[in-house]
Amino acid sequence: MSNRISIAVDGPAGSGKSTISKIIANKLNILHLDTGAMYRAVALTALEKGISISDVKAVEGLLKGLDMVVTYEDGVQRIFVNGIDVMGRIRTAEVSKAASDIAVIPAVRIKLVEIQRALSEKYSLIIDGRDIGSYVLPNADYKFYITATPEERARRRLKEQQSKGLETNKSLDEMVKEIIARDKTDSTREFAPLVRTEDAHYIDTTDMSIEQVVSAVLDIIQKGKQ
Ligand code: C5P
Repeated sequence: MSNRISIAVDGPAGSGKSTISKIIANKLNILHLDTGAMYRAVALTALEKGISISDVKAVEGLLKGLDMVVTYEDGVQRIFVNGIDVMGRIRTAEVSKAASDIAVIPAVRIKLVEIQRALSEKYSLIIDGRDIGSYVLPNADYKFYITATPEERARRRLKEQQSKGLETNKSLDEMVKEIIARDKTDSTREFAPLVRTEDAHYIDTTDMSIEQVVSAVLDIIQKGKQ
């Protein structure tokens, strides 16, 4: 029997999953695995190599030679692709869109899910994504589905990007459209789509602060296993 704990956090883009998961990881002294960052890393590599995301064969070829290593430095996740740290380059709008498109390709998912499962065998993890409770770790100790309205998620994304000096030229309306388009790609893809599983704790964060969401999640975990 292992003492490792696994907490699955799923939900759509901009729901605050990563922010919440990071805080919970710190509080519980476990590691946080942001799986979206892994899809972003593959998308970035394709973009940088000039590979068209819609060319499945070319993407599959790229995967064959792609060495992805996910490690932790002082508890912070890092991703190396072919030996190079990509974390500083994966948060642009171009990469967001490309990540969502590349995540539709089964070969991409199979490769990344293998790494995610191996990490969960090794560490206690809170792992956030789209398919964690439904596909990657169906036996996770705790499952959460975190969401908010598209408008609220767009507002949060805009604020975050403005604070980083990125894409300040986008209107809220454009952001809402982008978010809805990403939701659609994520939840309608054939292989391991974004779904809310019946055994996941559902939290609508639209009118909640980060602190309130964190405390709701911690309350459930502290009550013990479902
Ligand atoms: O969470 P984040 O916005 O960084 O994820 C980027 C994209 O990666 C998502 O839009 C989604 O298409 C994809 N993704 C996925 N499965 C995961 C995590 C992310 O398909 N487990």
